[in-house]
Amino acid sequence: MTMEEVFRRFVLGENHAQMPSSPQLVQNFAKEGVRWLKAGMPILPQEVAQERLAICKSCEFYVGERCSKCGCQMRVKTTLATSACPIGKWGQATEKMVPIETQTNPPAS
Ligand code: SF4
Repeated sequence: MTMEEVFRRFVLGENHAQMPSSPQLVQNFAKEGVRWLKAGMPILPQEVAQERLAICKSCEFYVGERCSKCGCQMRVKTTLATSACPIGKWGQATEKMVPIETQTNPPAS
């Protein structure tokens, strides 16, 4: 087993084979993280995050609590106001949609 396989199994769990390639995962995580940090780490109210997560849970790309399109852990990604579904099933939050909270600590995963 290669180090990459060990990493993927450790980070992604048993469904690692269905996730994007490792370089694509790193790119996706970095893009999400930088966008969120630049915006001041805005977190959505729990009820809005739950609505997003409900969409994910009924999606064909939801595998083991991750999205097989982006590889993200959806319990975390759905709480980030700056995140969006990679295929447009839900979008970035706007001030019109919800009161966006900015906090100094990231959400617990
Ligand atoms: S982020 Fe989009 S593609 Fe991924 S599981 Fe959720 S709804 Fe499906």
